[in-house]
Amino acid sequence: MAELNQINMLAQKSASLRLAVLEMVAVAKKGHIGGAYSCIDILVALYYGGVLRFDPVNPSWPLRDRFILSKGHSGAALFAVLADLGYFDSAELTRYCCNGGILGGHPDRKVPGIEADTGSLGHGLGIGAGMALAAKMDGAEGRVFVLVGDGECNEGSVWEALVFAARHRLSNLTLIIDRNRQCVLDFTEECAPLDPLAERLAAFGWDVAEVDGHSFQELLSTFEQKPSTRPRAIVANTIKGKGVSYMEKVLKWHHSVPNVEELAIARAELTAKTQA
Ligand SMILES: [Mg+2]
Repeated sequence: MAELNQINMLAQKSASLRLAVLEMVAVAKKGHIGGAYSCIDILVALYYGGVLRFDPVNPSWPLRDRFILSKGHSGAALFAVLADLGYFDSAELTRYCCNGGILGGHPDRKVPGIEADTGSLGHGLGIGAGMALAAKMDGAEGRVFVLVGDGECNEGSVWEALVFAARHRLSNLTLIIDRNRQCVLDFTEECAPLDPLAERLAAFGWDVAEVDGHSFQELLSTFEQKPSTRPRAIVANTIKGKGVSYMEKVLKWHHSVPNVEELAIARAELTAKTQA
């Protein structure tokens, strides 16, 4: 069970990382801020909550756990985390999506700490399943975590990878679904409905948990559970645009840039949360 001061520290870290993402998007005048904000608490739980094993000084450390952000359009969130952890100079964040910088709009393995090129949706889970199978064949300890979007689950390749992972009993693989109930076009249940998502994942042979994806307490206690003999899926119920009042659950913030007034409001709201 996580301590209250750890939870507060994680919440403040999330707010400061959301601020970093805001400034990246403001400078680049592009970026998928809504989806970055729905998944950033999950990233913070993984990287700052003692879940993942990693070494920013040695990103290729053979014993590390692997994290793949399959919903690559939310790369700004992962870049902010990796810069904060020291994988690369934080000054790179000011060159996000700019000529001369190392950070494009999506994760790319030339960036230290990135395990897979993603952005073309539906591939992260297949890549992660391959890594998990390789680790199992090698007798390696490292675990693999893959974060996919719920809109991304409309890609058939996600469901192919679910079958593959269950067939090979990849107990070292954890899938996290950022269940913000929105995709680029609409609300997910208005496009291609996914519910009952947890039951569908269980029917594919996975252990399934459902959590509040903004509750560090719930996220950490789920991540801490011992793996069974099957792969694990975590349906993380989230809010797209979480953290900035006017962005939450509003479709246009999938890929919009705040104007001057909106930036000021977002900065004020997030700054208050860094001190809460
Ligand atoms: Mg979504």
